[in-house]
Parts: sequence; structure tokens; C-alpha cells
Amino acid sequence: MRLEGLSPEPYLRLLSKYKWASTPYYVSLIKGPYSSDPIALQVLPSQEETRVQTPLSCPDPLSEHKYSPVPGLIHRYRDRVVILVSNRCASYCRHCNRKRTWRKPESLPATNDALNHVLNYIKTHPEIREVLISGGDPLFLSLKRLKHILKSLKDVPNVEVLRIGTRIPVVLPMAVTKELCKTLKAFRPLWLNTQFNHPQEITLEAQKACERLQLSGIPVSNQSVLLKGVNDDLNTMKSLCYDLQKIMVRPYYLFHCDFVEGTDHFRTSISCGIEIIEKMWGHTGGMCIPNYVVDLPGGLGKARLMPSHLKKVEKDNLIFQTFEGKLMRLQID
Ligand SMILES: *Cc1c(COP(=O)(O)O)cnc(C)c1O
Ligand code: SF4
Repeated sequence: MRLEGLSPEPYLRLLSKYKWASTPYYVSLIKGPYSSDPIALQVLPSQEETRVQTPLSCPDPLSEHKYSPVPGLIHRYRDRVVILVSNRCASYCRHCNRKRTWRKPESLPATNDALNHVLNYIKTHPEIREVLISGGDPLFLSLKRLKHILKSLKDVPNVEVLRIGTRIPVVLPMAVTKELCKTLKAFRPLWLNTQFNHPQEITLEAQKACERLQLSGIPVSNQSVLLKGVNDDLNTMKSLCYDLQKIMVRPYYLFHCDFVEGTDHFRTSISCGIEIIEKMWGHTGGMCIPNYVVDLPGGLGKARLMPSHLKKVEKDNLIFQTFEGKLMRLQID
């Protein structure tokens, strides 16, 4: 593929820092010019990635390393942990918040020995009831390895719920085979979150992949990232959420683009995200509206950025602003 605007030298330097791989299917979804197509922007490497623009950006803004008591496990919130099962993906998203792990993997539970350390940690922390299986892409593992991980987790008495984070339904939907769905079904309650960022990604193939999961009893939810030039306008976000509702995938989160080094060119202002959600509220069914969240730098956790319709609290009154902009005083006794 010819990458416009990239001479070989800086291009090679870029790829030695952040690798590139994708699927023929996902690349085939590119329709327009590379410089503005929403798929191209997410998948093609750009020299912008090597420019450090904001002082806030760093390789690990969520301090996942600090909250990792054993390699491959992040315990930030009391009742749930994230486990990183690989550092490989079918397609590497240029906006990825774990792009630091692409080349130099932090130790991941790739071996059974390392996985046992992770499992022991979960067993000895009975407050953990939910395990988010992430990476890398867990659905890019061999089915045998995935089964082994799911079974080992299921066997831990305090683990009540599993959750998989994967972009396979978006970038390689044909890999969501009947056999994979059958495997996942055996480990219910299992929730699956994927990441559609633009309506152009909701193809018939993607729709069918989600349907195969759903018909196997696996609910599919979506976690988008707010990306400059990709989905940072009301109409695109609304179409994305409408199209997700049509394929029965619930918009769960809209993430403000994390302050990750190499992703600055994707980051919008926070007010841009708030404005989009504010304009959707009331005009769009509630089932189509994701929670807009920012993961606070320093690993301080997710913060919800939902517009409040309660404008003022007086002694006997609450002042609301309706979704159409009218002010209303509600007397409370
Ligand atoms: C986002 C995240 C979770 C999951 O949070 P939910 O609000 O339950 O989706 C868990 N652990 C870590 C470290 C996270 O970053
Ligand atoms: S699929 Fe997920 S982990 Fe893999 S590159 Fe994309 S955002 Fe990062």
C-alpha cells in the first residue's frame, strides 16, 4: 500500500516505534482519501504519532503499571480486575491506549505459569467478582488458549461474571465463527464489549458477527473512542449510535481519547464530547446514548461527563433546564 506523505525513512522510524498490521477486510472498508477517511485515520500509521504535542501525554496515563500487583493483571477498582492476555491484535488502532505494549510487551500471562499467578491473585482477593479479559485482543488467541483461560477463570469461586473486550467484530468479523460463539456460550454470564467508532464500520459482515454472538446468548455492547476527524461531530455520532441500535449493540461508553503518547492528533476538547451528548439527549432515544467518560490521568479512574439538567438547587426549588432549553422551577416540599 502506498502511504501518501510518508517518505521511507521517517516511515520506518515510525514503524519501529509503533508497528502496523491490519486485516484485508478492515482496510477494504476505506472509501475516501487517506487523509480524511474514518477507517484510514484509525488504521494507517501517521507521522503525527511520533510528535509529542501535549505535556500531559505519556505512554501509560492510566498508571496501569502502578495498579498491576502481578504481571498481566490490573486491579484499580475493588470489585473487578482487567487481565491482559496478549499484546497482539488483528488490526492495530492508531489511537490505542495500550500502544506502549505493542513492541515491548510488559510481562503478560502468556505462559501457564504466569496465568497461574494471575489466577492465584484473583482467588486470594474474594472482593473481585468480575474479570475483564483484555489485551491485545482476546479473540485473536487460539480457541484452545481462550478456552483454557475462560475455564480457569470460571473455576475461581469468587468470579461471578466475565467480560471480554475485543475489536474482532469490527476488524475481522468472519473470525466470529459458530465454534467461537459456542465456546463463549459455555461461559455465560459473559459480556462482550467491542469498539465501533464510525457507521462505515457497521457492515453486513459486522452485523452478522454481532448477531451470531447475540443468538449464542452473548450481549454485545460498544465502547467508542471520541476521535478527531473520525466521529467528533453530532451527525456522525448520532448515525453511529442509531446504527448500533439497529444491530442491537448497546452504546455503553464514549471514551474521551486517553492522554496517551502518540495519539495527540486524535484528541478533541472535552467540551466537544459534552456538546455532542447534550445535543443527543432528548432528541435521541436513551438506548442510543453512551456514557461519555474521561479516564483521569494518573490512574485516578473514570469520570462521567454527562450534562446535568439540574441547573440550581434553591431552598424550596430545583431549577431545571429542559432538553429544549427551557428553564423550569420545580417546587419541592
Ligand atoms: C475501565 C476499567 C474497568 C471497567 O470499568 P467499568 O466502568 O466497569 O466498565 C476496570 N478496570 C480498569 C483498570 C479499567 O480501566
Ligand atoms: S484492538 Fe484494542 S488493544 Fe488492539 S490496537 Fe485496537 S484499541 Fe488497542
